[in-house]
Amino acid sequence: MRELEDNYRHKGLRNRLIEDIRSKGLMDEKTLEAMRAVPRHLFFSDQAFLEKAYEDIAFQIGEGQTISHPSTVAYQTQLLGLEKNHKVLEIGTGSGYQTAVLLQITAKVYSVERQRVLFQRTKKFMEQLNLNAKLFFGDGYLGLPAFAPFDRIIVTAGAPHIPEALLLQLKPGGRMVIPVGVNGKQVMHVIDKSADGKLNAEVHGEFSFVPLLEDRT
Ligand code: SAH
Repeated sequence: MRELEDNYRHKGLRNRLIEDIRSKGLMDEKTLEAMRAVPRHLFFSDQAFLEKAYEDIAFQIGEGQTISHPSTVAYQTQLLGLEKNHKVLEIGTGSGYQTAVLLQITAKVYSVERQRVLFQRTKKFMEQLNLNAKLFFGDGYLGLPAFAPFDRIIVTAGAPHIPEALLLQLKPGGRMVIPVGVNGKQVMHVIDKSADGKLNAEVHGEFSFVPLLEDRT
């Protein structure tokens, strides 16, 4: 069992981080409030790195994966334009931190992770925290057809191409935020599906994500 303490010191560090993110031009209040409510340090499997949890850096979470920069989480969440009645699909559960941020905005959060050890660890931890996301072990390229369509889809690993299945699982009027590119260099894409099913893509800044993997090795 992980230690679940969230004390005044943690909250102080978190407030400072939120102001740091705001000063970088990420000013969506709904996103900042959601991030203020989630104790990011608890999502680090090794509590020895507590101080790092409230710096704007990415960090190793084991199994060769990383928890994204807080400002990247803010950026993606802001672009997503999530509303409280939305059903959202996340690809790449990882530590569950982004999942927890989404849960602050809507109760209907589905998330897929392909790394079994990470999936099991995060599932147990989310239950311990009473965070009721629906977590799935599987291949994010396939999405979750049984639960589609989704109002919003967020991909938190770098995709070499836009997975067709995810486009199909997007509701008309829906939106997907996905970093697209290879070799640790991606361009954030916002893909909107109109009411009549037409797709429109807009590109934003450059980021560096771990890759969205296509096999189970
Ligand atoms: N949202 C996470 C970020 C994790 S990094 C967080 O806040 O911690 C990206 C995650 O995507 C990793 O955990 C990685 O294992 C996972 N991933 C990579 N390829 C995937 C795939 N095809 N399907 C689902 N998850 C995948």
